[in-house]
Amino acid sequence: MLGADDAVAGALRARGWPERPLVDQPLALDLLNTRWVVGGTPYDLLDHDELTAAWLIDRELDRKPLPREQLREARDALAAVIADPADCSRLNALLWHGRLRLEVGEHGEVEHYDVADPVWRAAWACLRDYLRLRAEALDRLRKCANPDCVLHFLDTSRTGRRQWCSMTACGNRLKARRHHDRSRGRA
Ligand SMILES: [Zn+2]
Repeated sequence: MLGADDAVAGALRARGWPERPLVDQPLALDLLNTRWVVGGTPYDLLDHDELTAAWLIDRELDRKPLPREQLREARDALAAVIADPADCSRLNALLWHGRLRLEVGEHGEVEHYDVADPVWRAAWACLRDYLRLRAEALDRLRKCANPDCVLHFLDTSRTGRRQWCSMTACGNRLKARRHHDRSRGRA
């Protein structure tokens, strides 16, 4: 998990943006969560060079040349495949940018990412992380159930029934809205 004083947090403060929610997610989901909504206002780290660079620093990924467009393409492909895990066409098109090379080291198997074009290295690492998560827990990769929320998470709860990015931000609000709709329906 990242600390409160990571590079992104500092860059957001410098820009006067609100804190980024849900910063405890694995890499692929953290890429999806580079955009979020607060009070109806959308925020997107990938809209700005310095915020993109800060995110890459925190995730210890290559940032030269700055891969803003590549990260955006990878993010769109991941959102699409989480919405419909059977449709891997966009994901597969991007996976063509690299391949895995395996080696056995002192401490066991080591994965190397062979990505010919350096501008694709960071995005490819995120796609690789998604494949790992998908193999381990496909049905636990979710978008928040609030239709107005764009955040994604890995459900690590015991029951596997988590629906919200956070109960306070989205869960309670939606429950209140449903309750309100039901009360009106009765009137
Ligand atoms: Zn949410």
